[in-house]
Amino acid sequence: MSDSTRAGAGREPSAAAEGAGEAPAANFIREIIEADLAAGKNGGRVATRFPPEPNGYLHIGHAKSICLNFGLAQRYGGTCNLRFDDTNPSKEEVEYVESIKHDVRWLGFDWAQREYYASDYFEQLYQYAVQLIERGKAYVDSLSADQIREYRGTLTQPGRESPYRNRSVPENLDLFRRMRAGEFEEGTHVLRAKIDMAAPNMNMRDPTLYRVLKQAHHRTGDAWCIYPMYDYAHPLSDAIEGITHSICTLEFEDHRPLYDWCLAHLDVPCRPRQIEFARLNLTRTVMSKRKLLQLVQEGLVSGWDDPRMPTLSGLRRRGYTPEAIRAFCDRIGVTKFEGVLDVSRLEHGLRDDLNKRAPRVMAVLHPLRLVIENYPEGQTEELDAENNPEDPGAGTRKLPFSRVLYVERDDFREDAPKKWYRLAPGMEVRLKHAYYVTCREAVRDEKSGAIRELRCTYDPATKGGGSEDGRKVRGTLHWVSAAHALDAEVRLYDHLLSEAGPGEADESADWKARLNPGSLEVVTGCKVEPGLKTADRGSRFQFLRQGYFCVDSVDSTPERLVFNRAVALRDSWAKIERAGGPSSAG
Ligand code: ATP
Ligand code: MG
Repeated sequence: MSDSTRAGAGREPSAAAEGAGEAPAANFIREIIEADLAAGKNGGRVATRFPPEPNGYLHIGHAKSICLNFGLAQRYGGTCNLRFDDTNPSKEEVEYVESIKHDVRWLGFDWAQREYYASDYFEQLYQYAVQLIERGKAYVDSLSADQIREYRGTLTQPGRESPYRNRSVPENLDLFRRMRAGEFEEGTHVLRAKIDMAAPNMNMRDPTLYRVLKQAHHRTGDAWCIYPMYDYAHPLSDAIEGITHSICTLEFEDHRPLYDWCLAHLDVPCRPRQIEFARLNLTRTVMSKRKLLQLVQEGLVSGWDDPRMPTLSGLRRRGYTPEAIRAFCDRIGVTKFEGVLDVSRLEHGLRDDLNKRAPRVMAVLHPLRLVIENYPEGQTEELDAENNPEDPGAGTRKLPFSRVLYVERDDFREDAPKKWYRLAPGMEVRLKHAYYVTCREAVRDEKSGAIRELRCTYDPATKGGGSEDGRKVRGTLHWVSAAHALDAEVRLYDHLLSEAGPGEADESADWKARLNPGSLEVVTGCKVEPGLKTADRGSRFQFLRQGYFCVDSVDSTPERLVFNRAVALRDSWAKIERAGGPSSAG
């Protein structure tokens, strides 16, 4: 399987066409908008909206929608509203509203003054409903929820009309007013659109517009005890705001006739057009808010911002940049085809971005002492180290070097295989930014038998990592000076879900059985170079030869540094094998 979509591939831009910073490819939504503009619709205006329901944190799928909606507004000199779709009082919370605003801003988009709430339209939506009743297009039904379901019919059988369907307009108006006044209990009455109980599209079989819910709302408090349904509130909210193009995901395609019906039967100021696109799905990634909430509530992750979460707050804490996420959204494009994109696509984008700007530092995750026998005891020297070979403007820093260092335990083998170019008895390697050292002996712990330290010698003539006689040293290792290094905890992440088995959909009921038990590995006792003491929380680095890491924004302190691995280096070992060298730093 290539790294494009598993289904609906072919519409995806090929990986080769993905240059960094490339403009997003044209897509069918742009074609629709351009045709509308050419036809002079909406007076040349383009107005979109991003309409999250504040019942969870935003995830990478939402980012696709945000980039699309705000991006189209930017492209066509239009506007994009941030609208909270807060018509359901039971699941919505202020915490979610705040997190959504923070995340949209962090992604780099600005809704200026255009922050709206569907709940602000409750009175207007009520008046529209009265208008529908007056026009004989809506009625109060007194069937129970079960009966309504039963009367609805099935895909193969038409529904039946409710005995209450032909109530008079005055009776409907009276009952609807009393619903609002709180006279009826939940489930006793609903307001329904009067459309067609035999419609092939089930959404058109007299859908419910309002139900009684005796619940306080996070914005309107106790003002209401009836709440509008999404399919009714959404087109009218769009119309009230003057939206021209209402972009949503494919599951709403079958709802579009209802969307249009609401607009057609009311005196609305504007007739927005609904356009559907395929939602983003990623392999090995939980993407529904309901499941993400479950992970949080059941303590399966540390919170919405757990670095393994596909939420924007999780990705941010993990080390993702807004630029990497925006570039990813641009590259994957917009299609009408449901597919599952390989999650590696997201990771490639992050590497590309961080490669350009993350300063290189050295960190030893599994330290092994290395003593340089011919280096004077008590001496320290400061070596110059380049901060980023990809960015000459990034300058250099000073690195302390001394007699006792730490190197990576994995970089030593007592019985080295062929083509092992790292440390082994008798092998000479380059220490990045420093000197050539030759391993003389591995000293074992008498009790445990484990290797305790390496005894080495260095060649003072190789300062900076080159030799005058031009002798070749293939391996280049990272290291830190033991006396100067800082302790750190490093958290290594893997995907939340294990690889899906054949035919196993992400939506399977037992999705939790696929939770990857190895998604978090905490490595303590790591040693990092001293300059990291003052690194800001949230700042990102390349740990040479290991990957990109981010200072944890929640748990890291100068006294106890905590790093999250954002992403490993690209195929690092494969590349090294091909180059014929065992390891190369920087
Ligand atoms: P979920 O299915 O994860 O619960 P949702 O669709 O219920 O998400 P909303 O808050 O209603 O979440 O979504 C706000 C906007 O983001 C909607 O316009 C929706 O279509 C879009 N959106 C949600 N998930 C995705 C996704 N995976 N890919 C693209 N757009 C998405
Ligand atoms: Mg939704």
